[in-house]
Amino acid sequence: APILAINNVKLTIDEKLILKGINLIVRKGEIHAILGPNGAGKSTLAKLIMGIDNLKTPTEGEIVFDGKIINGLEIYERARLGITLAWQEPARFEGITIEEYLKLSGKNNPNVDIKKCLEKVGLVPELYLKRYVDESLSGGERKRVELASILALKPKFVILDEIDSGIDFTSIEDIQKILETMRDEGITILMITHNEKLLDVADRASLLCAGKVLDTSDPQTIKRKFEECKVCDVLDFELKG
Ligand code: ADP
Ligand code: MG
Ligand code: MG
Repeated sequence: APILAINNVKLTIDEKLILKGINLIVRKGEIHAILGPNGAGKSTLAKLIMGIDNLKTPTEGEIVFDGKIINGLEIYERARLGITLAWQEPARFEGITIEEYLKLSGKNNPNVDIKKCLEKVGLVPELYLKRYVDESLSGGERKRVELASILALKPKFVILDEIDSGIDFTSIEDIQKILETMRDEGITILMITHNEKLLDVADRASLLCAGKVLDTSDPQTIKRKFEECKVCDVLDFELKG
């Protein structure tokens, strides 16, 4: 059974049709990549699944998570069902340490081992537990801390919206490993990315263009279709022009 089913989802914002009948199935336990040009509606779809920015109810269609229609649910209700979202720009929490942040994330996970979570994202616990989650961390370190917090939280399902943006090449290989670790721990991943190396760890992928999922297949096929996609070119042209 799929963990997430998006059934003919349409969304209008300010009288503009942004999502134009999305159909998408994410299988339990997979890393599912979403590829598509800028402005296609990827982040809007991510927000609608999480229910943030007041995007809680599609104009049409259903979002089914773990067999339950979640249209209209509040963020905290979705979080309770096991859905979480990580941002392009990771969170900063002034005044709390990494140790406190991870304990908070893992408070409902009885088996959580904060130090192991840090080790799994390549941060030496002794060096980081007492550091603050603020600007004193580099962008890459904050992303690692955010990924550690997901390991501590251990949701059923995580949406990662371009977490690779602004990350250097060596870190990308680390992120590949971290994603595989998450999958090994039973977390299903929906990953929005343009990064070819991250695409390599995906089990399946979907091409989202101009508010529609044009195809779902293996990652390499989707990558090729994205490169050949005329509709995607048109969308890029419209945005630039
Ligand atoms: P992507 O993440 O694929 O780059 P987005 O989901 O951010 O695309 O945006 C899709 C389209 O929806 C864009 O045309 C964007 O301008 C529009 N859009 C997104 N959020 C809003 C909003 N709150 N109000 C009006 N238009 C929006
Ligand atoms: Mg974008
Ligand atoms: Mg986006």
